[in-house]
Amino acid sequence: MRADCHMHMVLDAIEWRSAIARHNPVPDEPWIREILKTYQDLGFTYLRDGGDRWGAGVKARELAPEYGITYRTPLAPLCKAGHYGTFIGEKYENFKEYAELVKKHRANGADFIKIMISGLMDFDRCGVLTEPGFPAGEIRELSYIAHEEGFSVMAHCNGAPTAIAAAQYGVDSIEHGAYLNDEALHAMKEAGCIWCPTLSTVGNLRGKSRFDECAVGAILKTAMENVSTFAAMGGIIAPGTDAGAWAVPHGSLTEFELLREAIEGNADAVMEHGTQAIIDRF
Ligand SMILES: [Zn+2]
Repeated sequence: MRADCHMHMVLDAIEWRSAIARHNPVPDEPWIREILKTYQDLGFTYLRDGGDRWGAGVKARELAPEYGITYRTPLAPLCKAGHYGTFIGEKYENFKEYAELVKKHRANGADFIKIMISGLMDFDRCGVLTEPGFPAGEIRELSYIAHEEGFSVMAHCNGAPTAIAAAQYGVDSIEHGAYLNDEALHAMKEAGCIWCPTLSTVGNLRGKSRFDECAVGAILKTAMENVSTFAAMGGIIAPGTDAGAWAVPHGSLTEFELLREAIEGNADAVMEHGTQAIIDRF
């Protein structure tokens, strides 16, 4: 059994604007069927979508059983106005609006809540994020409100301080998790927080000349070292590719190779355990 614990049906790994346009105003069913078939042919039986506001993930969830796939979607990810993620998610200005969106997601059948609580990596500069993470108190509120509605929380989260707050306040899975440190890894281990490192989003950039190759290599190295440390601690690591992101095609298997490279010995058992943890909580 194969699972991708982080992918985006709405994206196509080539160009996000035209990818999104394909599903606007209505999701492109033949295209979605083709992608689901790709996953089925590769033996995938579980997909967790990172969300989109055009309904591509919802359409995929509706069709997935025909392909023997269990499909989970947060509907649109919830993003704070003026911060990373608004290209794909629904915006909120304050906690009140966020809580209303969480309630709306409940009514509309979301499987979990996806939040964006940090910027993303600057692939030309190792160690640099496009914006810092949210303050701890804000992460606490976002996590609390979603849990109160009975949802698990998937968080786009980079940087050690942000991951520490996310783990401390019960975020169920940390996505990407660039630039963690031992303190963050310990906090995540203690909290039983699942880490979905999406190494392919960096690994698949190698040799593409789109970004500084040195920086890409260095970013990947730090991430793989952290994965190795977290695995040695007994932390929960789930395979998720972020398929749809640039250079990560649907059905990409790079993530499994990179995790096997980073986790010595029992990588397959670690991935299986992480996948089961995602299935149980999402
Ligand atoms: Zn994603």
